[in-house]
Amino acid sequence: MTGVREVCVVGGGLAGLAVAAAADPARVRVTLLERRPEVRPLGAGIILQPNAIHALDALGALEPLAAAGAELSELVQYRDGDRVAIAQREVWPRLALPTLAVHRHALHAALLARAVERADVLLSQAVVDVACEQSGRVAVTTADGCRYSADVVVAADGVDSAVRRAVAPEVTDGELGLWWARWIVDAGSGLPREWATAAVAGAVVGTFPLGGDELQVFATIPAEAMTDDRRAETLDALVRSSALLRRAAEHGMRLVHVGPAREVRPHVWRAGRVAFAGDAAHATSPTLSAGGGLAIEDGLVLGRLLAAPLAPDAVLERYEAARARRLAWIARVGRVQASTARGTPGTRSREEMAAALRGMYEPLDDPCYLERVTGDTGVAAGAVRA
Ligand SMILES: Cc1cc2nc3c(=O)[nH]c(=O)nc-3n(C[C@H](O)[C@H](O)[C@H](O)COP(=O)(O)OP(=O)(O)OC[C@H]3O[C@@H](n4cnc5c(N)ncnc54)[C@H](O)[C@@H]3O)c2cc1C
Repeated sequence: MTGVREVCVVGGGLAGLAVAAAADPARVRVTLLERRPEVRPLGAGIILQPNAIHALDALGALEPLAAAGAELSELVQYRDGDRVAIAQREVWPRLALPTLAVHRHALHAALLARAVERADVLLSQAVVDVACEQSGRVAVTTADGCRYSADVVVAADGVDSAVRRAVAPEVTDGELGLWWARWIVDAGSGLPREWATAAVAGAVVGTFPLGGDELQVFATIPAEAMTDDRRAETLDALVRSSALLRRAAEHGMRLVHVGPAREVRPHVWRAGRVAFAGDAAHATSPTLSAGGGLAIEDGLVLGRLLAAPLAPDAVLERYEAARARRLAWIARVGRVQASTARGTPGTRSREEMAAALRGMYEPLDDPCYLERVTGDTGVAAGAVRA
Protein backbone atom coordinates (compact mmCIF):
# COMPACT_ATOMS: atom_id res chain seq x y z
CA MET A 1 0.00 0.00 0.00
CA THR A 2 1.50 3.38 -0.94
CA GLY A 3 -0.94 5.87 0.49
CA VAL A 4 -3.87 6.26 2.84
CA ARG A 5 -7.14 5.52 1.03
CA GLU A 6 -9.80 5.63 3.75
CA VAL A 7 -9.99 7.81 6.85
CA CYS A 8 -12.61 7.89 9.59
CA VAL A 9 -12.77 11.10 11.64
CA VAL A 10 -14.51 10.90 15.02
CA GLY A 11 -15.96 14.28 16.05
CA GLY A 12 -17.36 17.25 14.13
CA GLY A 13 -15.80 20.07 16.18
CA LEU A 14 -13.14 22.44 14.84
CA ALA A 15 -10.43 19.78 14.55
CA GLY A 16 -12.58 17.14 12.86
CA LEU A 17 -14.21 19.60 10.46
CA ALA A 18 -10.78 20.98 9.52
CA VAL A 19 -9.44 17.48 8.71
CA ALA A 20 -12.44 16.92 6.44
CA ALA A 21 -12.16 20.41 4.91
CA ALA A 22 -8.48 19.76 4.08
CA ALA A 23 -9.09 16.32 2.57
CA ASP A 24 -8.36 15.62 -1.07
CA PRO A 25 -11.31 13.47 -2.22
CA ALA A 26 -9.42 12.38 -5.35
CA ARG A 27 -6.91 10.55 -3.13
CA VAL A 28 -8.62 9.79 0.16
CA ARG A 29 -12.18 8.92 1.16
CA VAL A 30 -13.02 10.64 4.46
CA THR A 31 -16.03 9.77 6.62
CA LEU A 32 -16.71 12.04 9.60
CA LEU A 33 -18.87 10.75 12.47
CA GLU A 34 -20.46 13.30 14.83
CA ARG A 35 -22.46 12.10 17.81
CA ARG A 36 -24.88 15.03 17.83
CA PRO A 37 -27.83 15.31 15.43
CA GLU A 38 -26.33 18.55 14.09
CA VAL A 39 -22.98 20.29 14.04
CA ARG A 40 -23.86 22.79 16.74
CA PRO A 41 -21.31 24.40 19.05
CA LEU A 42 -21.89 26.27 22.29
CA GLY A 43 -23.67 29.59 21.62
CA ALA A 44 -20.62 31.64 22.48
CA GLY A 45 -17.92 33.56 20.66
CA ILE A 46 -14.33 32.63 19.90
CA ILE A 47 -11.21 34.70 19.27
CA LEU A 48 -9.27 33.67 16.18
CA GLN A 49 -5.63 34.72 16.46
CA PRO A 50 -3.61 35.39 13.28
CA ASN A 51 -2.34 31.79 13.03
CA ALA A 52 -5.96 30.59 13.04
CA ILE A 53 -6.79 33.14 10.33
CA HIS A 54 -3.86 31.83 8.29
CA ALA A 55 -5.11 28.23 8.56
CA LEU A 56 -8.73 29.19 7.79
CA ASP A 57 -7.57 31.07 4.71
CA ALA A 58 -5.62 28.00 3.54
CA LEU A 59 -8.81 25.95 3.99
CA GLY A 60 -10.85 28.41 1.93
CA ALA A 61 -13.11 29.06 4.93
CA LEU A 62 -12.12 32.61 5.80
CA GLU A 63 -14.32 34.71 3.55
CA PRO A 64 -17.68 34.32 5.34
CA LEU A 65 -15.95 34.87 8.70
CA ALA A 66 -14.17 38.04 7.67
CA ALA A 67 -17.61 39.42 6.78
CA ALA A 68 -19.40 38.15 9.92
CA GLY A 69 -16.74 38.70 12.61
CA ALA A 70 -15.36 41.71 14.46
CA GLU A 71 -11.70 42.63 14.14
CA LEU A 72 -9.86 42.95 17.46
CA SER A 73 -7.06 45.35 16.66
CA GLU A 74 -5.80 45.78 20.22
CA LEU A 75 -5.90 44.16 23.63
CA VAL A 76 -6.68 46.64 26.41
CA GLN A 77 -5.91 46.20 30.11
CA TYR A 78 -7.66 48.48 32.62
CA ARG A 79 -5.79 49.12 35.89
CA ASP A 80 -7.15 51.50 38.50
CA GLY A 81 -8.45 53.87 35.85
CA ASP A 82 -5.39 53.53 33.56
CA ARG A 83 -5.93 52.14 30.08
CA VAL A 84 -3.00 50.14 28.62
CA ALA A 85 -3.50 49.10 24.98
CA ILE A 86 -1.31 46.71 22.96
CA ALA A 87 -1.82 46.54 19.19
CA GLN A 88 -2.18 42.96 17.89
CA ARG A 89 0.18 43.88 15.04
CA GLU A 90 2.88 44.39 17.69
CA VAL A 91 2.20 40.96 19.16
CA TRP A 92 2.09 39.19 15.76
CA PRO A 93 4.55 41.20 13.61
CA ARG A 94 5.40 38.44 11.11
CA LEU A 95 2.04 37.00 10.08
CA ALA A 96 0.57 40.50 9.74
CA LEU A 97 -2.97 39.09 9.65
CA PRO A 98 -5.97 40.33 11.65
CA THR A 99 -7.38 38.86 14.85
CA LEU A 100 -11.13 38.20 14.58
CA ALA A 101 -13.87 37.42 17.08
CA VAL A 102 -16.77 35.40 15.67
CA HIS A 103 -19.76 33.43 16.84
CA ARG A 104 -18.82 29.77 17.12
CA HIS A 105 -21.80 28.77 14.99
CA ALA A 106 -20.48 30.95 12.12
CA LEU A 107 -17.05 29.32 12.40
CA HIS A 108 -18.50 25.80 12.40
CA ALA A 109 -20.78 26.68 9.47
CA ALA A 110 -17.82 27.97 7.42
CA LEU A 111 -15.79 24.79 8.07
CA LEU A 112 -18.79 22.50 7.58
CA ALA A 113 -19.49 24.06 4.16
CA ARG A 114 -15.93 23.08 3.07
CA ALA A 115 -16.06 19.69 4.81
CA VAL A 116 -19.21 18.45 3.06
CA GLU A 117 -17.60 19.16 -0.33
CA ARG A 118 -14.76 16.79 0.51
CA ALA A 119 -16.06 14.21 2.98
CA ASP A 120 -19.15 12.27 4.05
CA VAL A 121 -20.36 13.96 7.23
CA LEU A 122 -22.65 11.61 9.20
CA LEU A 123 -24.62 12.90 12.18
CA SER A 124 -26.04 11.09 15.25
CA GLN A 125 -23.12 8.64 15.12
CA ALA A 126 -21.61 8.32 18.61
CA VAL A 127 -18.48 6.19 18.54
CA VAL A 128 -18.34 3.78 21.49
CA ASP A 129 -15.59 1.33 20.52
CA VAL A 130 -12.32 1.21 18.58
CA ALA A 131 -10.47 -1.95 17.52
CA CYS A 132 -7.36 -2.72 15.47
CA GLU A 133 -7.93 -5.28 12.74
CA GLN A 134 -5.42 -7.95 11.69
CA SER A 135 -4.98 -6.18 8.37
CA GLY A 136 -3.61 -3.15 10.25
CA ARG A 137 -6.77 -1.14 9.63
CA VAL A 138 -8.79 0.34 12.49
CA ALA A 139 -12.52 -0.11 13.02
CA VAL A 140 -14.87 2.05 15.08
CA THR A 141 -18.33 1.02 16.24
CA THR A 142 -21.15 3.45 16.98
CA ALA A 143 -23.81 3.29 19.71
CA ASP A 144 -26.37 1.99 17.22
CA GLY A 145 -24.06 -0.81 16.06
CA CYS A 146 -22.68 0.62 12.78
CA ARG A 147 -19.06 -0.31 12.06
CA TYR A 148 -16.61 1.79 10.01
CA SER A 149 -13.19 0.44 9.03
CA ALA A 150 -10.39 2.73 7.76
CA ASP A 151 -6.62 2.90 7.16
CA VAL A 152 -6.44 5.72 9.72
CA VAL A 153 -8.89 6.87 12.41
CA VAL A 154 -8.66 10.49 13.59
CA ALA A 155 -9.74 11.06 17.19
CA ALA A 156 -11.13 14.61 17.14
CA ASP A 157 -13.70 13.96 19.83
CA GLY A 158 -12.70 16.66 22.30
CA VAL A 159 -11.16 16.77 25.76
CA ASP A 160 -13.33 13.86 27.00
CA SER A 161 -12.26 11.72 24.01
CA ALA A 162 -13.76 8.22 24.13
CA VAL A 163 -11.28 7.11 21.46
CA ARG A 164 -8.36 8.29 23.60
CA ARG A 165 -9.70 6.42 26.61
CA ALA A 166 -9.90 3.25 24.51
CA VAL A 167 -6.50 3.34 22.78
CA ALA A 168 -4.30 5.55 25.01
CA PRO A 169 -5.69 5.11 28.54
CA GLU A 170 -2.42 6.33 30.10
CA VAL A 171 -3.23 9.86 28.93
CA THR A 172 -5.41 11.81 31.35
CA ASP A 173 -7.10 15.16 31.48
CA GLY A 174 -6.87 17.40 34.50
CA GLU A 175 -8.04 20.79 35.71
CA LEU A 176 -5.81 23.86 35.52
CA GLY A 177 -7.10 25.47 38.72
CA LEU A 178 -9.10 28.12 36.89
CA TRP A 179 -12.81 28.35 36.01
CA TRP A 180 -14.29 30.20 33.14
CA ALA A 181 -17.70 31.91 32.79
CA ARG A 182 -19.04 33.33 29.52
CA TRP A 183 -22.06 35.55 28.90
CA ILE A 184 -23.54 37.16 25.78
CA VAL A 185 -25.00 40.65 25.89
CA ASP A 186 -26.49 43.10 23.36
CA ALA A 187 -24.14 45.65 21.87
CA GLY A 188 -26.82 48.21 22.85
CA SER A 189 -25.71 47.76 26.46
CA GLY A 190 -23.28 50.63 25.93
CA LEU A 191 -20.32 48.45 26.98
CA PRO A 192 -17.15 49.40 25.10
CA ARG A 193 -16.80 47.50 21.82
CA GLU A 194 -13.21 46.52 22.57
CA TRP A 195 -11.20 43.50 23.68
CA ALA A 196 -10.47 44.45 27.25
CA THR A 197 -9.69 42.87 30.62
CA ALA A 198 -9.58 44.12 34.21
CA ALA A 199 -8.74 42.53 37.57
CA VAL A 200 -11.75 42.43 39.93
CA ALA A 201 -12.15 40.81 43.35
CA GLY A 202 -9.69 37.95 42.78
CA ALA A 203 -10.88 37.29 39.21
CA VAL A 204 -10.24 38.68 35.75
CA VAL A 205 -13.25 39.98 33.81
CA GLY A 206 -13.27 41.01 30.19
CA THR A 207 -15.23 41.60 27.04
CA PHE A 208 -14.88 41.48 23.29
CA PRO A 209 -17.25 42.39 20.45
CA LEU A 210 -18.67 39.66 18.24
CA GLY A 211 -19.83 40.36 14.74
CA GLY A 212 -23.43 41.62 14.57
CA ASP A 213 -25.05 43.17 17.60
CA GLU A 214 -23.53 41.24 20.45
CA LEU A 215 -20.64 41.26 22.87
CA GLN A 216 -19.12 38.42 24.81
CA VAL A 217 -18.39 39.03 28.46
CA PHE A 218 -16.14 36.60 30.34
CA ALA A 219 -14.54 35.98 33.72
CA THR A 220 -11.70 33.71 34.82
CA ILE A 221 -12.03 32.73 38.44
CA PRO A 222 -9.73 30.66 40.73
CA ALA A 223 -11.10 27.12 41.16
CA GLU A 224 -11.17 27.39 44.97
CA ALA A 225 -13.94 30.01 44.70
CA MET A 226 -16.01 27.74 42.43
CA THR A 227 -16.62 24.68 44.60
CA ASP A 228 -20.20 23.33 44.31
CA ASP A 229 -21.38 25.11 47.44
CA ARG A 230 -19.78 28.49 46.58
CA ARG A 231 -20.30 28.79 42.81
CA ALA A 232 -23.57 30.77 42.67
CA GLU A 233 -22.43 33.05 45.50
CA THR A 234 -19.06 33.72 43.79
CA LEU A 235 -20.71 34.61 40.47
CA ASP A 236 -23.20 36.94 42.24
CA ALA A 237 -20.39 38.65 44.17
CA LEU A 238 -18.38 39.07 40.99
CA VAL A 239 -21.30 40.75 39.21
CA ARG A 240 -21.78 43.08 42.21
CA SER A 241 -18.11 44.11 42.33
CA SER A 242 -17.49 44.61 38.59
CA ALA A 243 -18.94 47.73 36.92
CA LEU A 244 -18.68 45.97 33.57
CA LEU A 245 -20.63 42.90 34.73
CA ARG A 246 -23.21 45.03 36.56
CA ARG A 247 -23.89 47.02 33.45
CA ALA A 248 -24.07 43.86 31.29
CA ALA A 249 -26.47 42.31 33.84
CA GLU A 250 -28.74 45.37 33.63
CA HIS A 251 -28.93 44.72 29.87
CA GLY A 252 -29.97 41.09 30.25
CA MET A 253 -26.65 39.29 29.73
CA ARG A 254 -27.15 35.51 29.34
CA LEU A 255 -24.80 32.95 30.84
CA VAL A 256 -23.78 30.54 28.06
CA HIS A 257 -21.08 28.52 29.79
CA VAL A 258 -19.42 28.01 33.13
CA GLY A 259 -16.80 25.33 33.75
CA PRO A 260 -13.21 24.50 34.67
CA ALA A 261 -10.28 24.98 32.28
CA ARG A 262 -8.77 21.58 31.50
CA GLU A 263 -5.65 20.20 29.89
CA VAL A 264 -4.59 16.83 28.46
CA ARG A 265 -1.42 15.33 29.95
CA PRO A 266 0.80 14.22 28.29
CA HIS A 267 -0.08 15.30 24.78
CA VAL A 268 -0.89 12.40 22.50
CA TRP A 269 -0.54 12.42 18.70
CA ARG A 270 -0.88 8.80 17.65
CA ALA A 271 -1.51 5.33 18.97
CA GLY A 272 -1.03 2.72 16.23
CA ARG A 273 -3.10 3.93 13.28
CA VAL A 274 -5.15 6.36 15.39
CA ALA A 275 -4.16 10.04 15.09
CA PHE A 276 -5.31 12.63 17.64
CA ALA A 277 -6.31 16.21 16.84
CA GLY A 278 -7.58 19.24 18.74
CA ASP A 279 -8.57 19.05 22.39
CA ALA A 280 -8.48 15.23 22.32
CA ALA A 281 -4.71 15.55 21.77
CA HIS A 282 -3.78 18.66 23.71
CA ALA A 283 -6.56 20.65 25.43
CA THR A 284 -4.80 23.68 26.86
CA SER A 285 -5.52 26.82 28.89
CA PRO A 286 -8.31 29.00 27.41
CA THR A 287 -6.50 32.09 28.74
CA LEU A 288 -4.39 32.06 25.55
CA SER A 289 -7.41 32.15 23.18
CA ALA A 290 -5.49 29.67 21.04
CA GLY A 291 -6.93 26.13 21.45
CA GLY A 292 -9.48 26.45 18.66
CA GLY A 293 -6.96 27.90 16.22
CA LEU A 294 -4.54 25.10 17.04
CA ALA A 295 -7.30 22.51 16.54
CA ILE A 296 -7.91 23.98 13.06
CA GLU A 297 -4.15 23.90 12.33
CA ASP A 298 -4.01 20.23 13.42
CA GLY A 299 -6.82 19.40 11.02
CA LEU A 300 -5.27 21.29 8.13
CA VAL A 301 -1.82 19.74 8.58
CA LEU A 302 -3.18 16.22 9.09
CA GLY A 303 -5.67 16.54 6.21
CA ARG A 304 -2.86 17.57 3.84
CA LEU A 305 -0.47 14.86 5.03
CA LEU A 306 -3.16 12.17 4.66
CA ALA A 307 -3.25 12.92 0.91
CA ALA A 308 0.51 12.41 0.54
CA PRO A 309 1.81 9.23 -1.16
CA LEU A 310 3.09 7.86 2.16
CA ALA A 311 2.25 4.77 4.19
CA PRO A 312 -0.15 5.46 7.10
CA ASP A 313 2.57 5.10 9.76
CA ALA A 314 4.80 7.56 7.91
CA VAL A 315 1.93 10.06 7.67
CA LEU A 316 1.31 9.89 11.41
CA GLU A 317 5.02 10.25 12.18
CA ARG A 318 5.20 13.35 9.99
CA TYR A 319 2.09 14.74 11.66
CA GLU A 320 3.51 14.33 15.15
CA ALA A 321 6.84 15.84 14.10
CA ALA A 322 4.98 18.83 12.62
CA ARG A 323 2.78 19.50 15.64
CA ALA A 324 4.34 18.28 18.89
CA ARG A 325 6.87 21.08 19.59
CA ARG A 326 4.43 23.87 18.80
CA LEU A 327 1.85 22.44 21.19
CA ALA A 328 4.36 21.63 23.95
CA TRP A 329 5.37 25.30 23.92
CA ILE A 330 1.79 26.55 24.09
CA ALA A 331 0.94 24.16 26.93
CA ARG A 332 3.91 25.45 28.96
CA VAL A 333 2.96 29.07 28.38
CA GLY A 334 -0.70 28.29 29.12
CA ARG A 335 0.13 26.65 32.44
CA VAL A 336 2.14 29.69 33.56
CA GLN A 337 -0.66 32.01 32.46
CA ALA A 338 -3.34 29.97 34.20
CA SER A 339 -1.35 30.08 37.44
CA THR A 340 -0.90 33.86 37.29
CA ALA A 341 -4.39 34.86 36.06
CA ARG A 342 -5.50 35.47 39.63
CA GLY A 343 -7.09 38.87 39.51
CA THR A 344 -4.12 40.98 40.55
CA PRO A 345 -3.75 44.15 38.49
CA GLY A 346 -0.72 44.03 36.16
CA THR A 347 2.27 46.19 37.01
CA ARG A 348 4.27 45.82 33.80
CA SER A 349 4.77 48.78 31.47
CA ARG A 350 3.06 48.82 28.10
CA GLU A 351 6.35 47.90 26.38
CA GLU A 352 7.01 45.02 28.80
CA MET A 353 3.50 43.70 28.25
CA ALA A 354 3.85 43.88 24.47
CA ALA A 355 7.19 42.05 24.62
CA ALA A 356 5.77 39.35 26.93
CA LEU A 357 2.78 38.75 24.63
CA ARG A 358 5.01 38.69 21.55
CA GLY A 359 7.25 36.11 23.26
CA MET A 360 4.26 33.94 24.20
CA TYR A 361 2.92 33.62 20.66
CA GLU A 362 6.27 33.88 18.84
CA PRO A 363 6.43 30.25 17.60
CA LEU A 364 2.90 30.59 16.15
CA ASP A 365 3.78 33.84 14.35
CA ASP A 366 5.50 32.09 11.45
CA PRO A 367 4.19 32.73 7.92
CA CYS A 368 6.15 29.75 6.49
CA TYR A 369 5.01 27.12 9.00
CA LEU A 370 2.20 25.44 7.00
CA GLU A 371 4.27 25.36 3.83
CA ARG A 372 7.27 23.95 5.69
CA VAL A 373 5.49 21.06 7.40
CA THR A 374 3.39 19.93 4.43
CA GLY A 375 5.22 21.42 1.43
CA ASP A 376 7.35 18.45 0.30
CA THR A 377 4.69 15.75 0.56
CA GLY A 378 3.95 15.45 -3.14
CA VAL A 379 0.71 17.38 -2.59
CA ALA A 380 0.65 20.97 -3.80
CA ALA A 381 0.49 23.25 -0.74
CA GLY A 382 -2.34 25.24 -2.29
CA ALA A 383 -4.35 22.12 -3.12
CA VAL A 384 -6.81 22.59 -0.30
CA ARG A 385 -7.95 25.98 -1.58
CA ALA A 386 -10.78 26.20 -4.00
C1 LIG B 1 -13.91 28.83 28.09
C2 LIG B 1 -13.17 28.58 26.83
C3 LIG B 1 -12.86 29.64 25.98
C4 LIG B 1 -12.13 29.40 24.82
N1 LIG B 1 -11.82 30.46 24.01
C5 LIG B 1 -11.09 30.22 22.88
C6 LIG B 1 -10.75 31.31 22.02
O1 LIG B 1 -11.15 32.47 22.23
N2 LIG B 1 -9.99 31.03 20.92
C7 LIG B 1 -9.55 29.76 20.62
O2 LIG B 1 -8.87 29.57 19.60
N3 LIG B 1 -9.88 28.72 21.44
C8 LIG B 1 -10.63 28.92 22.54
N4 LIG B 1 -10.97 27.87 23.35
C9 LIG B 1 -10.52 26.51 22.98
C10 LIG B 1 -11.41 25.90 21.90
O3 LIG B 1 -12.79 26.08 22.21
C11 LIG B 1 -11.15 24.40 21.80
O4 LIG B 1 -9.75 24.19 21.76
C12 LIG B 1 -11.77 23.83 20.52
O5 LIG B 1 -13.16 24.05 20.49
C13 LIG B 1 -11.47 22.33 20.43
O6 LIG B 1 -12.08 21.81 19.27
P1 LIG B 1 -12.12 20.24 19.07
O7 LIG B 1 -12.70 20.03 17.72
O8 LIG B 1 -10.80 19.65 19.36
O9 LIG B 1 -13.08 19.68 20.21
P2 LIG B 1 -14.62 19.92 20.48
O10 LIG B 1 -15.02 21.29 20.13
O11 LIG B 1 -14.87 19.45 21.87
O12 LIG B 1 -15.37 18.96 19.45
C14 LIG B 1 -15.46 17.58 19.65
C15 LIG B 1 -16.61 17.06 18.81
O13 LIG B 1 -16.63 15.64 18.90
C16 LIG B 1 -17.95 15.19 19.15
N5 LIG B 1 -17.84 13.92 19.85
C17 LIG B 1 -17.43 13.73 21.14
N6 LIG B 1 -17.43 12.41 21.45
C18 LIG B 1 -17.84 11.77 20.32
C19 LIG B 1 -18.03 10.39 20.02
N7 LIG B 1 -17.81 9.43 20.93
N8 LIG B 1 -18.47 10.06 18.77
C20 LIG B 1 -18.70 11.02 17.82
N9 LIG B 1 -18.54 12.34 18.08
C21 LIG B 1 -18.10 12.72 19.31
C22 LIG B 1 -18.59 16.31 19.97
O14 LIG B 1 -20.00 16.27 19.90
C23 LIG B 1 -17.98 17.54 19.30
O15 LIG B 1 -18.74 17.96 18.19
C24 LIG B 1 -11.71 28.08 24.51
C25 LIG B 1 -12.03 27.01 25.33
C26 LIG B 1 -12.77 27.26 26.49
C27 LIG B 1 -13.10 26.10 27.39
